[in-house]
Amino acid sequence: MNNCVFCKIITGALPATKVYEDDETVAFLDINPVNKGHTLVIPKKHVDSFMEAGTAEIRAVMTTSQRVATAVLLATGAEGFNLSLNNGRAAGQVIFHWHMHLVPRFEHDGLKLWAQGKYEEGEMDELAAKIKEVFK
Ligand code: 5GP
Ligand code: ZN
Repeated sequence: MNNCVFCKIITGALPATKVYEDDETVAFLDINPVNKGHTLVIPKKHVDSFMEAGTAEIRAVMTTSQRVATAVLLATGAEGFNLSLNNGRAAGQVIFHWHMHLVPRFEHDGLKLWAQGKYEEGEMDELAAKIKEVFK
């Protein structure tokens, strides 16, 4: 028996406030919103994370995210949104069924999502070389 909370939401075994559904995806409101209207977009096919998703799931989830973003912007009056995913425990992933977070944003809503740092001299080029090496 699959014990995944989001799979149970897909089948209706667990309740959720769904706002969109098609053959491949479901979107529902996050129970603990960053801002009201915070929506989760998930593939119906269970994959633990983005890294296990195939191109079909990625295409479907991103297409639904764009459609839902339009609706959430209109419904909430938001001026923008963040579309993001947490991949792995270290990145804050708690539910291991891949989901996109769509967070409506308002000017001066006080959210600061990224605390940005700086590179030491030469560090940026060194790291870029290492990353590019993986593609070879
Ligand atoms: P993660 O940290 O895995 O990227 O995000 C999981 C998200 O799912 C959290 O924002 C959390 O509030 C939401 N969540 C967890 N359980 C439930 C649930 O049962 N129903 C709904 N609607 N959202 C949930
Ligand atoms: Zn699942």
